[in-house]
Amino acid sequence: MSNKRKKILVIEDNPLNREIVEVTLKKEGYNLVLAVDGEDGLQKLEESPDLVLLDLSLPKISGWDIIKKIRKDKKYKNLPVIALTAHAMVGDREKAIKMGCNAYLPKPCLPKNIIEKVKNFI
Ligand SMILES: [Mg+2]
Repeated sequence: MSNKRKKILVIEDNPLNREIVEVTLKKEGYNLVLAVDGEDGLQKLEESPDLVLLDLSLPKISGWDIIKKIRKDKKYKNLPVIALTAHAMVGDREKAIKMGCNAYLPKPCLPKNIIEKVKNFI
């Protein structure tokens, strides 16, 4: 890894899942920025993360609206986004990819899977 720690923005309203992701990725040496809803997430995009973990079902602004905004904006053209999808919502996975997410991670997130997905990108 380069001497600059890579920054990951986690937009997830579920506190437990957010904590699992945070603890797992901090241990791997990443710099974490946490957002608790869609509005908070859009604001924290300004902090120029190297990757985004995006829950699709969020209060205030949904993950669907966030990925739409990200893919419309040229400055985020190369920003990898991994969708966090609820276990039962199988149809969401294809939809997330179609809307511009680079990958998806089923919830509840397992540490091994989180690390594997993130390392595909940064
Ligand atoms: Mg949620």
